[in-house]
Formats: sequence, C-alpha cells, structure tokens
Amino acid sequence: MSQLLPIERKKQILSWLRKEGSIKIGEISKRLQVSEMTIYRDLKPLIEQEEVYRTSGGITLRKEAPSLPNHTCTYCHKISLTKFSIQILTLDQEVEHACCAHCGLLRFHDIENDVAQIICKDFLHDTTLNAKTAYYLFNPDLSINCCMPTVLTFGSLKNAQQFQTGFGGNLLSFPDAIVEIKKVMKLNNSCH
Ligand SMILES: [Zn+2]
Ligand SMILES: [Zn+2]
Repeated sequence: MSQLLPIERKKQILSWLRKEGSIKIGEISKRLQVSEMTIYRDLKPLIEQEEVYRTSGGITLRKEAPSLPNHTCTYCHKISLTKFSIQILTLDQEVEHACCAHCGLLRFHDIENDVAQIICKDFLHDTTLNAKTAYYLFNPDLSINCCMPTVLTFGSLKNAQQFQTGFGGNLLSFPDAIVEIKKVMKLNNSCH
C-alpha cells in the first residue's frame, strides 16, 4: 500500500474499526506500513473527541451512542451530565459512567481489578484524560451541583495549582484521591 495522507489513514482506521470493533495499534501500523507513533498521532484527535478509546495495546470504537446525556451514574444512580462524568471501561468491554469524579473514584475503588481504563475530563479544557494521571481538587470553593465533596479533575498540575490558588481546596494525585474520598465518605455518609 502506498503512503496515505494522515486524513486518509484516519478514514481507513475508522472504517476498519466499524467493521472489526477494536484493533491493536501494532496491527494498524502493519496494515498501513507506518510507525506506531504515527498511528498514535493520527488517532490523537479521535481519542480527544472520544470517537475511539484506547484499550490495552489497541483502540476500540466508541459504542454507537450519539445521544449521550442520559447516562445513569453507576455509583449514585443520578443522571450523569457528560461535562463532569467519568467513564470506566471494564475488562469485559463494558462502559460505565459516573456522574462526577467523586463517584468515579469510589466506583474505581470498588471494581479496581476489573478496570481496563478510566477516563475523565479536564475541568478547564474539556479534554479527555487518563484519570490515573489526572490531578484531583477536593472541595474547591465552586460547586458543580453534583456530589459532595466536590471533586474536580485537571490534566496539568500547573493548571490545577493555579485553579487552587483562586478557588482553594485540596489537590491530590489519583492514588491519594482514592484514599481521601474513602476517608471522607467514612466520616460522612450523607453525600448524595
Ligand atoms: Zn454519582
Ligand atoms: Zn456526582
């Protein structure tokens, strides 16, 4: 196959994904005869637009669900609004939704061994993040009208710190955020 333009590769990858569901990055790289790095670069916008998900070693097309707004939070059963919601992709390829980082962290703690991937959104930029590398701001002086304590997610430590300077709160990494949310929930059972 002669070298395709990035836009053509993207189209080709999407059409394979529609037929096959998920494909390994290595397999795509072999079929298109370009490096895996190139494939990741091609896929970055698709991942950011949430058209595809990264799974271990490959990518999966998002399940056909164009009208997203009515997901129910797996943890508290509230309707989850997409802006703050956390998505957990399980090893069985199920996608779970949590209404906000608060529930996302609690749910992750409960099913940790079945989680393939956990995804959140950057509070400021709305970009999609791997929740395990995100920063968590507990109890800022700003409410998102979801679960208490409010937990916001940030992709960049610098942004999170700037936000913390303005709005206060307690800034934590993913593992620390899980410990913290469990601690808070033990003290206070009336979160929702
Ligand atoms: Zn919830
Ligand atoms: Zn919530």
